[in-house]
Amino acid sequence: MTQATFSDTASTLFINGRWEPAASGAVREIHNPADGELVATVSEAGREDAERAISAARAAFDSGVWANVPAPERGAFLLKVAVELRERREKFARAESLDTGKRIIESRIDIDDIAACFEYFGRLAGQSAGRVVDAGDPAVVSKIVYEPVGVCGLITPWNYPLLQAAWKIAPALAAGCTFVLKPAELTPSTAILAMQLLQDLGLPDGVANLVTGPGVKAGAPLSEHPDIDLVSFTGGLETGKRIAAAAAGTVKKVALELGGKNPNVVFADADFDAAVDNALNGAFVHSGQVCSAGARLVVEESIAERFVDELVRKAKAIRIGGPFDESAETGPLISAAHREKVDAYVQRGVAEGARLRCGGAAPEGEKFDAGFYYQPTILDRVERGMSVVIDEAFGPVVTVETFRTEDEAVATANDTIYGLAGAVWTQDAGKAQRVAGRLRHGTVWINDYHPYLPQAEWGGFGQSGVGRELGPTGLGEYQEAKHIYQNTSPQVTGWFADHGKE
Ligand code: NAD
Repeated sequence: MTQATFSDTASTLFINGRWEPAASGAVREIHNPADGELVATVSEAGREDAERAISAARAAFDSGVWANVPAPERGAFLLKVAVELRERREKFARAESLDTGKRIIESRIDIDDIAACFEYFGRLAGQSAGRVVDAGDPAVVSKIVYEPVGVCGLITPWNYPLLQAAWKIAPALAAGCTFVLKPAELTPSTAILAMQLLQDLGLPDGVANLVTGPGVKAGAPLSEHPDIDLVSFTGGLETGKRIAAAAAGTVKKVALELGGKNPNVVFADADFDAAVDNALNGAFVHSGQVCSAGARLVVEESIAERFVDELVRKAKAIRIGGPFDESAETGPLISAAHREKVDAYVQRGVAEGARLRCGGAAPEGEKFDAGFYYQPTILDRVERGMSVVIDEAFGPVVTVETFRTEDEAVATANDTIYGLAGAVWTQDAGKAQRVAGRLRHGTVWINDYHPYLPQAEWGGFGQSGVGRELGPTGLGEYQEAKHIYQNTSPQVTGWFADHGKE
């Protein structure tokens, strides 16, 4: 039996500096998707709880208890968060692996990345001064100051639970905002641990608040409530549309990080072995439950057969297993429902005429029976317009399309409503830059797949989202630019004549 990762499992809502149960008393059991074991029991928040959390965040923001702390001091607090995260790395990594089923080695990397994110925004907070504007008049002092946007509603998915939350929490705190976090209902544990850490480091009450619970009840108020100034959401396209529509009612600022259908474009002159290896990583790391997964292999026709044969050979050999199985290279899907969705997507592709080269089913064997595993799956002979090429599977599935010319490669890669990420493989530096410049995607890798940097913006073109996380723009999302214009020598303008007494 695995143990719960926090002590008071009946009270996991963090509101105004206190740990509370849901008003309804409801709880939810969290199970490890690798083996079905009970991992934790958490409070199941409803609308009333979310509204209580929003009030606490509003009161804390309006009091100035965090917004009025000088920005360099807020930055210093974030640097302390990074240090403490590294201290508690194993506890956080274990909790992340138990909730998601991902390998412990991946969770450790996630925690390191999360610490790096807090460090980046910690350093940036101290530098984000305003700027002086030349008004063209020596009597005028004009400046732009950056102020916190206010109370933020942060809604996050289950694939990188704390990483996605950190991309929002760190810049929100750096900017001086207060927030209510609503993590995915299946993976709340590291969010609970993160609130404990912030509390231990002395963040004032009400600045950080957490509601664990389902989207429609605990999450929806964050997009609707007039006391929320900004809603930042990472998750699926359809949920994102609902949140944007709800947020329009009170004209909130909206940031959306949605899905992707990301092309991995391989030219015939690419380093063959590196391109195959990275195509495998791009598609199958974390069983493809990655928003930037290279789910569309777009490969030059002259090498396609050899390339796909090699990819299939390697995909068949991938070792699947639970988070603490040291021989495993990838883990389960998040839930039974998600595995059904992925399988239905694959079967639809086959029915539409795609050829199944490997996978297409759960792996066989007793050790897989209690988990939601799915084999790495490759479909070739697909065509633009098929649902497997259009829709996001969010599982270990890659489709293969071919091209003959550079123009055709670009057209195929851009033929998606999404635009999150993509890659180009070629040893011709000029071609690499040309193609990268023409791809309508928020991140383009050349001769690599998946790296991201906290100091570089992340986000989507098209229906992959609105706004950017990370980088200076990621901080800007949580700030309002205010123009302060001072006339040091006020004059009568005479615009309206003095017409004397009536
Ligand atoms: P999801 O949209 O089902 O849920 C995401 C979050 O929204 C959860 O916390 C959920 O409870 C909440 N939610 C659901 N309905 C809601 C509502 N009506 N109001 C408010 N909140 C609501 O997504 P998911 O299945 O958890 O995550 C997978 C998706 O996330 C994929 O599409 C993936 O591409 C995307 N994703 C994108 C990025 C990125 O950086 N662009 C990163 C990770 C995941």
